[in-house]
Amino acid sequence: MTTLDDLPLRDDLRGKSAYGAPQLDVAVRLNTNENSYPVPDAVVDAIAKAVQAELRDLNRYPDRDAVALRTDLADYLGHGLTAAGVWAANGSNEVQQQLLQAFAGPGRTALGFGPSYSMHPLLAAGVGSRWIGALRGPDFGLTPAAAVAEIEEHRPDVVFLCSPNNPTGTALDPEVITAVLDTAPGMVIVDEAYAEFARPGTPTALALLPGHPRLVVTRTMSKAFGFAGGRLGYLAADPAVIEAVQLVRLPYHLSSLTQAAARAALAQRDALLATVDAIKEQRDRIVTTLRERGTAVADSDANFVLFATGPDQKAAWQAFLDRGVLIRDVGLPGWLRVTAGDPVETTAFLSAAASILAEEI
Ligand code: PMP
Repeated sequence: MTTLDDLPLRDDLRGKSAYGAPQLDVAVRLNTNENSYPVPDAVVDAIAKAVQAELRDLNRYPDRDAVALRTDLADYLGHGLTAAGVWAANGSNEVQQQLLQAFAGPGRTALGFGPSYSMHPLLAAGVGSRWIGALRGPDFGLTPAAAVAEIEEHRPDVVFLCSPNNPTGTALDPEVITAVLDTAPGMVIVDEAYAEFARPGTPTALALLPGHPRLVVTRTMSKAFGFAGGRLGYLAADPAVIEAVQLVRLPYHLSSLTQAAARAALAQRDALLATVDAIKEQRDRIVTTLRERGTAVADSDANFVLFATGPDQKAAWQAFLDRGVLIRDVGLPGWLRVTAGDPVETTAFLSAAASILAEEI
């Protein structure tokens, strides 16, 4: 049998394993920060109609620049944005990959503050860039001074900031973002995949775009919109940044079916985003309940919660799975992450937690 060792694989990819949480067939799946609510029937019908209307023209390539979709996304984001300042791809992962292809690449560096989204270093590795893993503070926060010190030391070509941060849920103070923008010599990507779940008063980096041409804010329809299977991520930035990613994107990267489905979903956004408040309620319920039981929990502005398990988080993860609840071991010793689901799923998680965490403590 041929193994990877037999192939002329890039040296820097040898010994690596592919990213991915286990996709197990378990009753309660709270491991990938999806939206637990299925697409409502009215939205299913609207998307079906929009996709149907594209089918006869599948012999033609789609709009390479997805202008209509970008116009709709700009309208959703507000902040005076237009299609020229918005770009879309197959998930925000692809958006970030394109950004790294354009602004990092071989011989360049990208820096992020861990614990954070584990795809950022993998995307950097994929384009041949060196990853610099700076750290957040003990409370998972980041101060302007700490961020600036790392950037002054390493002078990275690309900085990743994640707010609200995966896996901790922590939102960044805009002062951190402005301090980073003032110091960083290269591009600053603020990953706002979970922005819609932030508690009231949490600012978005979109407000900082005017006057900051090296700032990029990435978003996704995978979480709040419940459109993870549709694969639609996007960014907002200075139009020059969009010109840059167009140098590296594959032609016709976004299928006409994806573009049509995403536009139909955006047109129905009130129905889709109606789940956000319900999810936030369950998120806050998890935080409050676990804290009442004496468990350490990180503040969350996202649709998930990071909680302490005692020293052996791997055993705790398995104990949840044994009780039919799939959550996420993000590789942080002593911590696990759970997605806020619907009330029934959340109850299942909390009752499993009641026995498991009591044993661990
Ligand atoms: N950024 C963060 C912080 C995420 O947690 C995720 C999904 N896990 C993504 C980006 C990528 O999401 P998608 O490619 O589905 O847009």
